[in-house]
Amino acid sequence: MNHTNESLFERGKLVMPGGVNSPVRSFRSVGGTPYFVASGEGPYVTDVEGKTYIDFVQSYGPGILGHAHPKVIEAITKAASAGTSYGAPTLGEVELAEEIARRIPGMEMMRMTSSGTEAAMSAIRLARGATGRNTIIKFAGCYHGHTDSLLVAGGSGVANQGLAGSDGVPDGAVADTIVAPFNVIPEIDETIAVVAVEPVAANMGLVPPSEGFLKGLREACDKAGAMLLFDEVITGFRLAHGGATEWFGVQPDVWAFGKVIGGGLPVGLYGGSREVMAHISPLGGVYQGGTLSGNPLATAAGLATLEVLDRDAYVELERIANRLATGMRSAFADAGVDAIVPTVGPIVGLFFGTEAPTNFDEVKVLAENGVYQKFFHECLSRGVALAPGPYEILFPGLAHSDAVIDEAVAVMAEAANAIA
Ligand SMILES: *Cc1c(COP(=O)(O)O)cnc(C)c1O
Repeated sequence: MNHTNESLFERGKLVMPGGVNSPVRSFRSVGGTPYFVASGEGPYVTDVEGKTYIDFVQSYGPGILGHAHPKVIEAITKAASAGTSYGAPTLGEVELAEEIARRIPGMEMMRMTSSGTEAAMSAIRLARGATGRNTIIKFAGCYHGHTDSLLVAGGSGVANQGLAGSDGVPDGAVADTIVAPFNVIPEIDETIAVVAVEPVAANMGLVPPSEGFLKGLREACDKAGAMLLFDEVITGFRLAHGGATEWFGVQPDVWAFGKVIGGGLPVGLYGGSREVMAHISPLGGVYQGGTLSGNPLATAAGLATLEVLDRDAYVELERIANRLATGMRSAFADAGVDAIVPTVGPIVGLFFGTEAPTNFDEVKVLAENGVYQKFFHECLSRGVALAPGPYEILFPGLAHSDAVIDEAVAVMAEAANAIA
């Protein structure tokens, strides 16, 4: 039987809300029918109708080596043939934790989970348990997964769906959450347990931290005895070999990771110093666990991914990102389309407007002007897949060769002319 995107979407919609398992995938914010992926290879995905796209979604980050990287597939296959989950500790968990501890100075111990949501949620619980305080501060437009207490003014899918937060989250669940504007140091007093931040905001498009913002947060937290949490689920091992800590030279108390460290399998991880992590059960009183936490397939895929991501790889990732960003900027300039293509190292964003936004309010104005949606479809119909929403970033990776980047830029130039 021949499947089409349309037929699968119709079938999917009958059995899954919006036909999807994560809202952004439904194309609701760009309109149209999502492509159903049949396979991926390197920088490409191919849909069920046989159409191939240059993929800048890459699973929203995990595909930093491209799809079906031979080393990752080999690691997963080897792990799977020895069993997929045991409910007992394994060598792979120890090795992955050791590798991450080597990369991030100050993160001496960690715990693995099955998603970034769980990692951020557990990091918040840890900070509350360790400080004995309840109140948390998050920044508008930063996304920390779909935990109740963090599901206010999130970017990404939350913003895409036009929801301020979510139905079903009781007022009580967010009563201890303060939302502050990104890039302004909020008032932090002795009631604050933790300040959670994406060190580079990458779920409201790409918004870099302004000069001194992260350092200022560090100082303000120290003064108040509050903890600082870097949610590195996107920046972790995409931005730099040692993550945002290395890139910005600012060390938080607690980190959350996900995406890249699972090499495309479900994963999350949070950690801190030995002293802080001593609060986690069974050493301390903060409970967190998981049937599939530290899953042998996920740890194998994560380790294989990190092995490829040596220091040279980050030089290459940044070079690729710059080639893409430079090409996009001239494509838009030539077409006379007002666009901003911000970069932070290997991370690339896209806004349609004349001034780079510095916070969520400014992002929303540009994201809702309707241009991204048009550009998205002009690109997609020509074989370049961007994320189906204006609050996401682009995810070029090591599989995007110069030829692939140049081809994508040529498509974007045509798309820019089409919307001009
Ligand atoms: C994706 C993301 C999460 C949530 O991770 P999931 O694996 O989707 O649960 C949390 N924080 C940030 C910064 C993210 O980008």
